[in-house]
Amino acid sequence: MPATAHPVIQAGDHKAYLEYALSQAEKSPPKPTNFRVGALVLDVDTNTILATGYTLELEGNTHAEQCCFLKLAKEHDVAEDQLGPLLPKNSVLYTTMEPCNKRLSGNLPCTERIVSLEGAIKTVYVGVLEPEKFVGQNEGRKKLEDAGIKVELVGGLEDRILAVATAGHKQTGEV
Ligand code: ZN
Repeated sequence: MPATAHPVIQAGDHKAYLEYALSQAEKSPPKPTNFRVGALVLDVDTNTILATGYTLELEGNTHAEQCCFLKLAKEHDVAEDQLGPLLPKNSVLYTTMEPCNKRLSGNLPCTERIVSLEGAIKTVYVGVLEPEKFVGQNEGRKKLEDAGIKVELVGGLEDRILAVATAGHKQTGEV
């Protein structure tokens, strides 16, 4: 089986897609300073997974969504900001955690990356809203919705998503 083979998931089975994104998050190295997140981009019209990504998959302080877009940009041999018109018009993003709206590192936040794809991503399916631990309140959802991108919470995996996301963090009560 080629390394890029993805499981066959029934169209519209959001929880199953999110679960696959979570399996990507599990590949991310546990660290005290970030969340382990997994993401994937799906072409809804053909029910084809275009890319997957997870936190720190690529070099630099990379986020899961960012890794998806960088991998797709590489595949199309363009810069990330040229990617939008090359993506299927009915693409959606699944991510275990709400896309970030602010980055302490000065990197471009994932919400801005999604918006800059110029409408290629129609809906963002998220498993949990971003905890406010690192950057304060996340206003990313509003930014996405203002750009005409739907944000939908897919329930049922919250506990597992958070357990994977915070595996490298100190537990409550530790100093
Ligand atoms: Zn991000």
